[in-house]
Amino acid sequence: MDLGLNGKRALVCAASKGLGLGCARALAEAGVDLVINARGADALEAAAVAIRADFGVEVVAVAADITTEAGRAEVLARAGGVDILVNNAGGPPPGLWTDWGREDFLAALDANMLAPIALITALVPGMMERGWGRVVNITSQAVKAPIPVLGLSNSARAGLTGYVGGTSRQVAGSGVTINNLLPGIHATDRAVALDTGVAERAGISLEEAKAQRCATIPAGRYGTPEEFGAACAFLCSQHAGFIIGQNILLDGGAVNATL
Ligand code: NAP
Repeated sequence: MDLGLNGKRALVCAASKGLGLGCARALAEAGVDLVINARGADALEAAAVAIRADFGVEVVAVAADITTEAGRAEVLARAGGVDILVNNAGGPPPGLWTDWGREDFLAALDANMLAPIALITALVPGMMERGWGRVVNITSQAVKAPIPVLGLSNSARAGLTGYVGGTSRQVAGSGVTINNLLPGIHATDRAVALDTGVAERAGISLEEAKAQRCATIPAGRYGTPEEFGAACAFLCSQHAGFIIGQNILLDGGAVNATL
């Protein structure tokens, strides 16, 4: 399927690894020029080199912390007006509801709610003026079904979801769509970190922790960044202009719900 994205420009945040990289690569495969971001310069540069070599698109790499105002200013200065924004950042640490105080919540809100809102606020007006735009926020399965050890994520992402629900309907008439992709477990560094925590708490091996988790997923496996990226590219495509303010689960069936 031709996604109709050849020659568009996208900013993909937190994209040197994992799901962000999966999205960047899928957009590049569709002919989209990229601005990609992450904090660590080495992995980011390696990702940029590989994307240029594999897909022949232009890739600008900006090493910066997207959860800070200074980091966003640097990224926005290099990105200019883009047609597509993929919001992403690292997820909050796991823990117990009794562990977290005001500072922990503020950090989670900065990373997983206020950073994407700031980028939407900065970039969507230009998209509206040009009459076309796509925003995809990487959130979490935790929005539909709270994950007990990820209370900070449950909270901050719910806030972003409410904002998107309201805002997406105010900009849709200008040709701009805003939607959320909700990953269940995917085979990335984040999954290894989460499974390592489970293994340590339960006194089992990493492989056992992974097998236990797979047993709770109808698909019986972890998702891949490639599958996730393909879904993101479709949401950014010309074919997805009627999809507004939706929360799309990519979880192998893990959330047991009819809707
Ligand atoms: P990952 O494999 O650990 O990759 C995270 C990427 O984000 C890296 O490129 C990292 O590079 C970058 N990053 C992290 N913090 C950043 C920051 N402050 N500023 C700029 N870049 C930053 O994680 P992932 O699995 O792709 O997860 C992506 C998002 O999806 C996270 O919010 C995660 O909580 C959520 N999620 C993931 C899963 C899953 O199973 N994988 C499930 C549900 C939700 P640097 O470290 O160099 O900055």
